[in-house]
Amino acid sequence: MKTIAVLTSGGDAPGMNAAIRAVTRSALALGWQVYRIRHGYAGLIEGALEAFTARSVGGIIQQGGTVLGSARCPAFMTEAGRRQALRQLAQHGVDGLVVIGGNGSQAGAQALDAMGFPVVGVASTIDNDLVGSDVTIGVDTALNIALEAIDRLKITASSHNRAFLVEVMGRKCGYLALMAGVAGGAEFVVIPEIEITPEQIARELSEAYRRGKKHAIGVVAEGARSNAAVLAAYFHEHKDEAGFDLRVTTLGHVQRGGAPTAYDRILASRLGAAAVATLARGEHGVVCGIIASRLATTPLTEVVDKQKPISPELFELARVLEQ
Ligand code: ADP
Repeated sequence: MKTIAVLTSGGDAPGMNAAIRAVTRSALALGWQVYRIRHGYAGLIEGALEAFTARSVGGIIQQGGTVLGSARCPAFMTEAGRRQALRQLAQHGVDGLVVIGGNGSQAGAQALDAMGFPVVGVASTIDNDLVGSDVTIGVDTALNIALEAIDRLKITASSHNRAFLVEVMGRKCGYLALMAGVAGGAEFVVIPEIEITPEQIARELSEAYRRGKKHAIGVVAEGARSNAAVLAAYFHEHKDEAGFDLRVTTLGHVQRGGAPTAYDRILASRLGAAAVATLARGEHGVVCGIIASRLATTPLTEVVDKQKPISPELFELARVLEQ
């Protein structure tokens, strides 16, 4: 291996820049050449490749988002699109590719690797819905942003005897909501993996009100059937059921925007370096992650389209502590 390329794809995540920096500098340290690819697979198909130096990745470790830009690229889902990508890589003499991204991006990585081109993934998504890493790049930052919002809402909620529903991201995965609920001391958590009806939530809220709670916070995952919009509509119709005056806050993309935490910078640095080390030992078609606190590679075939389970113990803990 002499020349590699790196791209970020799909939803951006705080820490992606630290991963780009780690990939670049680890490869340069081996005497390899590094190309950056702008705008994910779309840039790869268009041939938006440019040589990277150690200085090109200076001053980015503390920035959220991705300096390479990211995109969603339907053309890469087709074999013709991926053949065009292979032509671009061959034209620039690239021997291996590092894909920093989430579930969809790793599906693309798998598809390209299966066509005979060495690809290694770096587990990066704020949703933490990717098998192959216990925690993915961006999760810690997104969690801390959600937590800050919850802490602030608690202050205003207790002044007005209000209940706040806070909707967090996570797609079909309830990890962010559950962790934000435990860390934020929420009164209830709604996640896609364990469904709860609006009627049950109303009952729990009114019981909490009767127990003398001054405020209530519910953390709701965007992918839950009873998401913030559904619950807002329900409580609009059933105003008196909850006991509390109820307000809804959707955090949305605010969660993506923060400067990466120390945890995310270190995780991204380790995984970026691990991706280069993986290619250097001739391994590919895998995603680099952390499993049980250790660096690990997992075959992309075991990652793509797999559902990451939620911890039942943590859900139980949230239930016990919400009293
Ligand atoms: P994320 O990586 O954050 O989950 P997406 O699901 O949007 O983001 O995927 C990012 C991109 O990865 C898609 O726009 C597409 O180019 C590529 N991709 C996703 N799934 C596949 C697939 N099954 N085969 C090939 N490419 C895919």
